Amino acid sequence: GEALAVSARVAPLGSRLVLLLVEDLTEARRIEAVRRDFVANVSHELKTPVGALSLLSEAVMDASDDPEAVQRFAGRMQIEATRLTNLVQELIDLSRVQNDDPLEDAEPVRVDELVAEAVDRCRHQAGTKQITMAAGGTADLHVWGNRGQLAAALGNLVENAVNYSPARTRVGIAARRINAPGGDMIELAVTDQGIGISDKDKERIFERFYRVDPARSRATGGTGLGLAIVKHVVASHGGEVTVWSAEGQGSTFTLRLPEAGVARDRASQHPDPD
Ligand code: ADP
Repeated sequence: GEALAVSARVAPLGSRLVLLLVEDLTEARRIEAVRRDFVANVSHELKTPVGALSLLSEAVMDASDDPEAVQRFAGRMQIEATRLTNLVQELIDLSRVQNDDPLEDAEPVRVDELVAEAVDRCRHQAGTKQITMAAGGTADLHVWGNRGQLAAALGNLVENAVNYSPARTRVGIAARRINAPGGDMIELAVTDQGIGISDKDKERIFERFYRVDPARSRATGGTGLGLAIVKHVVASHGGEVTVWSAEGQGSTFTLRLPEAGVARDRASQHPDPD
């Protein structure tokens, strides 16, 4: 497709229309390829746990006179079932954030509540790894948006920070207001002291199902969809997400989201008749 577009650009025809048509076709083909890849990925991701469950249930039947083996297989079935549940839930979340307009249910959302929710979600996992979680600067800040989607976005970042960090490290969440030309924004930075991400991988981690280390991601219950969800949520809220990372040292994922200003709060609660 690329070559076609380029050759059209240099063609002596020089017709702007032809060029636009070719570019359109190339884009349509690219979208179709992305869609096909996605369906293939979903099928593969679903097949793996379903296949494992089927084999394990056969193993349980064969081992019916060995209660210890039955226990062991049942435990593994539970892990696979959880994996399947996570995947289906994340697919539903992804489809929601891609298709729903989050601003239909937009409201001022307290940053300290978002952060508390995200920390709560990871408390167990962090506890078993003795990871310390600390948040700062969240008081009195509000972002403007869909509470559920914003919670999912921040939750995913904190979950990743915990999952991709070794034991006895620290995960920090820092919030602050920044002045931006189009209106004030709230910046939320999630910093870990984990494995880090190479420059090459940084460009791809926001793609659906892309994982640096698939085995490691699966072992922690990852689906490869978390950052794709984050990217869609911030984009539809008029925000952005950026990543800084150094391999072996850690990463910082930063969300920038529109602030819910006092004027906007008032307008939404008491619509002005004018
Ligand atoms: P997953 O479910 O695999 O965590 P994500 O979409 O959330 O999927 O992340 C994609 C990949 O990006 C992960 O598999 C991991 O390789 C990498 N990654 C994400 N967050 C971090 C982090 N904080 N530190 C190191 N690697 C990360």
